[in-house]
Amino acid sequence: MKLNYLMPTKVVMGVDCIKSNADLLAAMGSKALIVTGKHSAKSNGSLDDMTEVLKSNGQTFSVYDKIMSNPTIDCVYDGANFAKQEKIDFIIAIGGGSPMDAAKAINLLTCQDIPREELFLGSYGSEILPMAFVPTTAGTGSEVTQYSILTNDKAETKTSIATPLLFPTVAFLDAKYMMGLSLTTTINTAVDALSHSVEGMLSARASDVSDTLAARSISLLCSCFDALKTGALSLEIREVLLYASMLAGMVIANTGTTVVHAMGYSLTYFRDVDHGRANGLVLPAFLEFVQTKNKPLIDKILATTGFASVTEFGNQITLLLGEREHLSKEEMVLFSGKAVLSKNVHNCSVVVSEPEILTLYQKSFA
Ligand code: NAP
Ligand code: FE
Repeated sequence: MKLNYLMPTKVVMGVDCIKSNADLLAAMGSKALIVTGKHSAKSNGSLDDMTEVLKSNGQTFSVYDKIMSNPTIDCVYDGANFAKQEKIDFIIAIGGGSPMDAAKAINLLTCQDIPREELFLGSYGSEILPMAFVPTTAGTGSEVTQYSILTNDKAETKTSIATPLLFPTVAFLDAKYMMGLSLTTTINTAVDALSHSVEGMLSARASDVSDTLAARSISLLCSCFDALKTGALSLEIREVLLYASMLAGMVIANTGTTVVHAMGYSLTYFRDVDHGRANGLVLPAFLEFVQTKNKPLIDKILATTGFASVTEFGNQITLLLGEREHLSKEEMVLFSGKAVLSKNVHNCSVVVSEPEILTLYQKSFA
């Protein structure tokens, strides 16, 4: 058997885990840059919990709270300039995938001079600061991945910086911060995690380790479907979602994502559809397509879901997402042309052509 698996991030989980693991933060440096979105870290208690622990550790910090959803290249260069001025020596990210991904790019740009045109080229030095991540959505798994996904206006899509330098040092998983997360964002992010694990199993780079993590993650996420439908989201359910999305992050850190994410990026870039929702809108049609090419693979995935058929599984995802957006013919042609350029397309055990991607959009948005 051949295996190539890496997961260097230390994960601690549980209510009040920042406080109960204060020593992990104490070891990281003397002054932190705390990267957050505009509001949620302040309102859900995570920022206060973090700053209290830093103060009791005798550490100082500066807060950069300007991260928008789907962070831009301008935003991470601005954040890095701020970090340099503040003379910080470690980085803390608190928030959903957007602040977490932005914090990784800010870290890289604080330590290394990288011109904008070289940001996504993949040749970086070795300098990086330690990072502590606190996910406050349960979806992206960014707390355990080496990816920073940014809005790339030049290419009119989302593009990732991918380097092992960007694995966070420590991830603190506390589901209590999610108790006020809206049902819509909870569903969209859960569907992102589901898509990560399913795409991980469809990936050409899938291994026994990644499949084992993905299978557990899919089965946990599917066990939450009823709670997601009714909105009965207890702390216990929030913990299951958070744990499953972390497992899904560990999957894609090793397998990457597939054409589903590539197709979703245009929906986000051009139509402002939330990232997880964008994946969920195209995932069912892709699974039906793969079933015609590799039924044993789909059967293996299906066995983890508890659903009897791929159609039933897809219908459940569709039910969670509600009414679909309408796409024009011209949009579908444009988006197919963009998606086929993504390297994710070739990362799948079933590679699709541009006309096939167009058919997938048509089936998804008929
Ligand atoms: P997000 O853009 O980080 O956050 C969505 C919204 O939820 C924001 O308005 C945010 O408010 C709010 N929010 C976050 N936590 C909250 C909480 N606990 N309570 C209440 N509101 C809360 O959304 P996301 O889906 O988590 O992340 C999407 C991004 O992650 C995309 O850019 C996507 O490309 C990327 N992604 C990265 C990876 C990876 O491996 N690195 C994988 C998948 C996706 P504030 O702005 O006020 O915080
Ligand atoms: Fe994703």
